[in-house]
Amino acid sequence: MSSRQDSTPLTVLKGIGPALAEKLGKLGLRSVEDVLFHLPLRYQDRTRVMPIGALRPGMDAVIEGSLLGADVVMGRRRSLLCKIQDGTGTLSLRFYYFSAALKANLQRGSQWRCYGEVRPGASGLEIYHPELQNLDSSTPLPVNETLTPIYPSTEGLSQQRLRSLSEAALAWLAQGNSLPELLPTELLDDLEQAPLQEAIQLLHRPPPSIDLQALEEGRHWAQHRLAFEELLAHQLAMLRLRAQIRSREAPAMPPSTELSDAFLKHLPFALTGAQQRVGADISHDLQQRQPMLRLVQGDVGSGKTLVAAMAALQALEAGWQVALMAPTEILAEQHHANFSRWLAPLGISVAWLAGKLKGKARHNQLQMIATGEAAMVVGTHALFQDEVRFHNLGLAIIDEQHRFGVQQRLSLRDKGAAGRFSPHQLIMTATPIPRTLAMSAYADLDTSVLDELPPGRTPVNTVLVADGRRDEVIERVRAGCAEGRQAYWVCTLIEESEQLQAQAAEVTWQALCESLPELSIGLIHGRMKASEKGEIMAAFKNGDLHLLVATTVIEVGVDVPNASLMIIENPERLGLAQLHQLRGRVGRGSTASHCVLLYHNPLSHLGRERLSIMRESSDGFVIAEKDLQLRGPGEVLGTRQTGLVQFRIADLVRDADLLPRVQLVARQLQVSHPHNSQRLIDRWLADGQQFAQV
Ligand code: ADP
Ligand code: MG
Repeated sequence: MSSRQDSTPLTVLKGIGPALAEKLGKLGLRSVEDVLFHLPLRYQDRTRVMPIGALRPGMDAVIEGSLLGADVVMGRRRSLLCKIQDGTGTLSLRFYYFSAALKANLQRGSQWRCYGEVRPGASGLEIYHPELQNLDSSTPLPVNETLTPIYPSTEGLSQQRLRSLSEAALAWLAQGNSLPELLPTELLDDLEQAPLQEAIQLLHRPPPSIDLQALEEGRHWAQHRLAFEELLAHQLAMLRLRAQIRSREAPAMPPSTELSDAFLKHLPFALTGAQQRVGADISHDLQQRQPMLRLVQGDVGSGKTLVAAMAALQALEAGWQVALMAPTEILAEQHHANFSRWLAPLGISVAWLAGKLKGKARHNQLQMIATGEAAMVVGTHALFQDEVRFHNLGLAIIDEQHRFGVQQRLSLRDKGAAGRFSPHQLIMTATPIPRTLAMSAYADLDTSVLDELPPGRTPVNTVLVADGRRDEVIERVRAGCAEGRQAYWVCTLIEESEQLQAQAAEVTWQALCESLPELSIGLIHGRMKASEKGEIMAAFKNGDLHLLVATTVIEVGVDVPNASLMIIENPERLGLAQLHQLRGRVGRGSTASHCVLLYHNPLSHLGRERLSIMRESSDGFVIAEKDLQLRGPGEVLGTRQTGLVQFRIADLVRDADLLPRVQLVARQLQVSHPHNSQRLIDRWLADGQQFAQV
């Protein structure tokens, strides 16, 4: 990391020596500026002492009074109970955990200030575990003059420590030090120009007169000012990343004529208009000497695989290698099968690489990739590994991008062809990314949308059924399969462990085998060998199995058009985007399809609302927007998977309206003030975060 210009060592602050500074540094607070930009999540109002007589349950309140004594009482749990009175009423303070010293301190007649949440208790209003300050000393204790900030808690740092840190940093500012304004005023409108330092001061220590509601809802001008700057910094980081990638040289590939003609001739259907349009975008990009960075968004079943195939043919015909990566082994296998079927007649070998491929077989595949004998390579994230060397990689295609991180996407660059060239990148995602998220998480990519489904699809009819009616659902499966349909039964489990998921699916499978002895029922889960999974999928695809019990391994990309019924157990455990993906496995043929969401009672209000969205909409974009509103961006995209950063103050849903301006200003600023652009990134993105190694 380059030394940062706007970075003042913590040791300039009163009370912070080198040892403490080092400890804080490990927790992500490395400079005074870091402390100033570590902003409160919410606030408590401790500026007024409330009369006890005016307290109501649910209030967070400061009270002052004199103790009437403290007794240990036995209830359901032993606790220390004290009464305190202030002339307007009495209140109980209750401690479930207490030391002898505390009990000894709480003398009858002593004066205390208490802060905590008021709740109804066995003996009238109570505060459990109040924060206490003794008022008996001769110097009167001042009441807080500002709202009390509650900071995002950092492991190993108490709120009190965070408060005194920010106190010291604000004092440092007040001594005439400053935070430089990095936003050029000529680019900004009035609101965006509000003074930075004032905004920072206000958010760390809001005066009691502040519009608390606006503050809590994130609508205060100070929050807007900082959210704008933070979003801008992120946007600038993305633009910089993009510029860096685009500054490299990529192989220019002329449009395919022979291979694509031969391929399209054998295709049993015509490309949709959307496939042609997106295909043309990609073909144009591939002809350039700059690396393509294109995201193709297309709802489940919109035919992204074909778009990938067309792109691959252009690269292959120009003599370059193509890598296609999928997030799960089962999907990678399916792609491998498809591409082998399509490319073998054209005389092109397809290599296969997954984590589970071992020994000689693995060695052979690696060899084929390194020599270029295999011009097309399909696999899982195993393709990212260091041992994989390409002969001349010209195009990397990543399917279902949301499962891979930005980081992984970037590591592809290093696999670039023959040193001089960087490969073109095509990223395909079926998780419809709401526009606001796309603008922020994929600002470095150009986007094409497959907004048309192939003809002849019938929408899936979705119903919500409580698991008390499981027997009815089983009857429905029996009846459907008797009519020659096929069905999925999807088991969900919160546990991350594949083993537990597999066990749960096995139990369900056994129970269904007993209830439905006349059906042939398969089981598929993540713990099975690739070859086993392949056999089961093939049997299901051939119609040899009526019912397939599966974990969410089938979430992504599996294609069996005759399957027209899907039961999803405990759908409330999954995100809507994931449910939408799952449901997309049915409704691929011409018969009417059904999806039963077999939820577990009782369902929360929010849970019901979310599942109702699934019943009402089959549009992935609508579902994703709703999911985003209900759950927030981290959940929707999964911070871990996407490398989507945690914002300090901005909120992509709440601040969505800032984004168009942010994009515009970012582009201008990058050109007119490149130096400020770097300083903004340093200010807001701790250590460059995921962009560090670009
Ligand atoms: P996605 O990856 O976008 O979810 P797929 O590429 O798996 O979708 O395609 C879904 C199904 O639609 C596949 O069975 C595929 O053969 C079929 N398909 C794709 N394009 C067309 C088209 N233009 N016309 C008819 N069927 C198509
Ligand atoms: Mg797909």
